[in-house]
Amino acid sequence: MQTEEVRKYLKFYRDLGVKEIWRRPADARPESIPDPEPLPMATAPVIALPSIDLPSLEPTGDTLLRIIEDIGDCKRCRLHIARKKIVFGSGNPEARLVFVGEGPGADEDESGLPFVGRAGQLLTQMIEGTASKEGIALKRADVYICNVVKCRPPENRTPEPDEMETCGQFLYRQLRAIQPKAICALGSTAAKALVGGKEGVMKLRGKWHKWNNIPLMVTYHPSYLLRPYNQNAKREAWEDLKTTLHFVFD
Ligand code: URA
Repeated sequence: MQTEEVRKYLKFYRDLGVKEIWRRPADARPESIPDPEPLPMATAPVIALPSIDLPSLEPTGDTLLRIIEDIGDCKRCRLHIARKKIVFGSGNPEARLVFVGEGPGADEDESGLPFVGRAGQLLTQMIEGTASKEGIALKRADVYICNVVKCRPPENRTPEPDEMETCGQFLYRQLRAIQPKAICALGSTAAKALVGGKEGVMKLRGKWHKWNNIPLMVTYHPSYLLRPYNQNAKREAWEDLKTTLHFVFD
């Protein structure tokens, strides 16, 4: 008999696209495992479980390549329907600093690369301009850049919680594989995915948080900074970046 917990566990792996999680003949599916003979309660403390070999959610020795392979031609959530390209991430796989945005926009969807549109150009300027002003030799290619969701949400809407949860597992694996000295969350969606809770960027920005013991700075999303009336936010974002760069590279 399958318990509710086992059923959920199996569904979870099926939703991940894992077709065969039982190291048994293909026909020995969980459904076909016969219920054990009922035993008198006093002599039935042990439940015989089939021998199973479940793929780990975070395989040991995980690498970015392995994560890309596991993502495959992903159809785990509705965002796959309208996407052109999966935008996995780009930059140095051994980066000491990782930037996490929300999700690809139109330019990223076309190219398959994160932050290549207007917001991306501003992010590049922010990284390289701030580093240069602070006497830190750093180019965009030295850091790693990725997003919470890897497929473009239609009309650039905010990703839904279930989309963030489904895709978030790959973000977490990326971060664990890279093991940066610090992470910088760009905007509320990335902050929610990494800090948790309901608070938005206004409350969280400019302070150090932690994700899995890795220091995490939250700052404004570059798209927000592109709006002309956000001069003060621009100054604050530059301060946040300065703090982050000195922490990582001093
Ligand atoms: N905005 C994001 O959050 N990510 C991108 O890759 C581009 C724009």
